[in-house]
Amino acid sequence: MTRITTDTGQIGAGGGDDLNPQVADGGKRHSGSLGRREFLLTAAGGLGLAALAGVTEELVGPSGNSQLASMSVPEQVATHQWAMVIDLRYCNGCKLCTAGCQAAHYLHQDQTWIRVFTMRNAAGDTYHMPRPCMMCEDPPCVPVCPVSANFRTDEGLVLVDQSRCIGTRICMNSCPYEARYFNWTSPLAVARQPFPQEPEWPVPQVEGTVGKCIFCAAMLPSGQLPECVTRCPMGVLYLGDLEADVAVNGIGNTVKLSEFIADNDGVKFKESYGTHPRVFYIPGHGQDLEADADAT
Ligand code: SF4
Ligand code: SF4
Repeated sequence: MTRITTDTGQIGAGGGDDLNPQVADGGKRHSGSLGRREFLLTAAGGLGLAALAGVTEELVGPSGNSQLASMSVPEQVATHQWAMVIDLRYCNGCKLCTAGCQAAHYLHQDQTWIRVFTMRNAAGDTYHMPRPCMMCEDPPCVPVCPVSANFRTDEGLVLVDQSRCIGTRICMNSCPYEARYFNWTSPLAVARQPFPQEPEWPVPQVEGTVGKCIFCAAMLPSGQLPECVTRCPMGVLYLGDLEADVAVNGIGNTVKLSEFIADNDGVKFKESYGTHPRVFYIPGHGQDLEADADAT
């Protein structure tokens, strides 16, 4: 991955008029008879990405995890633009996403890279709101680092190079989403890992440095979904690709990203901060993410 600090990725322009009605009509979760491969090809056609003829079938790994289709694309559209959609209508607060993330990254219990808040709305009702790193397009955590340990990849992932981090924690103060965690103690003992210790897979964490959600960056090139997405039994969490205008959850649903967000009144969290998050929330039940209070 190339490391850069700015990006202008946007949701795709739409298209794909011949989509299955269940997809086109309101961006429903279930894509019906249109398979993921067909959906990807259709969505790609709507975007004029003829090169996506190289899209391959969805992969299913040896662990049985759902995997995002890998794409063979030419140089000019070589990058993905990663995003996430969180469908609050279906979150039951089970926190299996948090547990799966912590197990995969050998995190202490107080390090909730994806944290599930219990929120209270104006009517006094509660709901659950998972909060990963927002992978901000204008991340305030990046420029404040005095040693440039934070960086943004050309695929829109904000990562931490723990070999550079000197633990000032100034980035933690700058994050409006409180998505960063300091490693006060030694990391948990780690079994043999599938990837080397690097910003895309910072396992084990390094004492005295800052860590956070990475969208399981090392897994994405091989088509695997982030651990939280795979672990969610409700299909709340979707990994999205703004470039291909598609999003996939862990229970087999594929949606056209731009329509799914638009048709379900998707919102971003704390947009007023100007961070331009790449995580989209679907409230569904009238939740006001800006006004509702944390109930826990
Ligand atoms: S949510 Fe916080 S840690 Fe993540 S990119 Fe935005 S400012 Fe940085
Ligand atoms: S695993 Fe899914 S349903 Fe459970 S808390 Fe996380 S997002 Fe919500």
